[in-house]
Amino acid sequence: MDLKLTNKTALVSGSTAGIGLAIAAALAQEGASVFVNGRTKERVAAAVEQIKSVNANSNVQGVAADLSTQSGAEELFQQVPEVDILINNLGIYEAKPFAEISDEDWNKIIEINFLSGVRLSRRYLPRMLEKNWGRIIFISSESGVNIPSEMIHYGVTKTAQVALSRGLAELTVGSNVTVNSVLPGPTKSEGVASFVQDLATSQGVDQSQVEKEFFQTTRPSSLIQRFASPEEVAALVAFIASPLSSATNGAALRAEGGVVRSAL
Ligand code: NAD
Repeated sequence: MDLKLTNKTALVSGSTAGIGLAIAAALAQEGASVFVNGRTKERVAAAVEQIKSVNANSNVQGVAADLSTQSGAEELFQQVPEVDILINNLGIYEAKPFAEISDEDWNKIIEINFLSGVRLSRRYLPRMLEKNWGRIIFISSESGVNIPSEMIHYGVTKTAQVALSRGLAELTVGSNVTVNSVLPGPTKSEGVASFVQDLATSQGVDQSQVEKEFFQTTRPSSLIQRFASPEEVAALVAFIASPLSSATNGAALRAEGGVVRSAL
């Protein structure tokens, strides 16, 4: 299927690793001009290199900017004044008992997971509406529906992203701009892979055993009973970013292996 992305420019926040990198690679593979973002020039350059190593003709550039701050967002806007496709992927997670989550922890996770997307959307959406074409996609999580008791602060930011996404979609009435969110489930990004590896090492078992037990005890409702790959999530995002998805707007789309137990 030709996703018709060759004349589109895309920015993926937090895309030097994991799901963001897979999304940037998928969009580049489909011919879009892609801006990869991370905090350091070195990591950004390595991600650009990685995408180009798969397809030397990819049109990929890097922008180093810390999007957890207003000044970092301003630095990015200097270098990338306009985009057709904005993927709000940046997000952090950390298991922590609710009683130990400080105000600083709350502020930090809200600023990184939620406010970064507010700032980027506030900048890029008006021009998309002027041009009458654009795509904004929030990478939320099944944790925005099934709030995990071991990281309530994370779940709250992921619900907030879905609300923001739907609210912004209301501003697109009658236009060719769409705003949607994609909800991945447990996905084997670099962060998750090293977490599984550490757990396996500490328990003296192999990784597949840790994965099996994780799905039996922590995510028993998963229908696929395995981690998704970042590429599986990226495939859905690439479709939603494309002109072919024009009838999908204001939606929360799931790529979570059936963890959420509802048909709708
Ligand atoms: P990851 O930790 O593997 O990658 C995060 C990326 O963000 C890295 O490139 C990192 O360098 C970059 N980054 C971190 N802080 C930054 C900052 N302040 N400014 C700019 N870049 C920064 O993450 P992931 O697991 O691929 O997750 C990506 C998104 O997917 C997140 O929003 C996460 O909530 C969501 N998600 C992940 C999973 C999962 O199981 N991995 C499941 C559901 C949703």
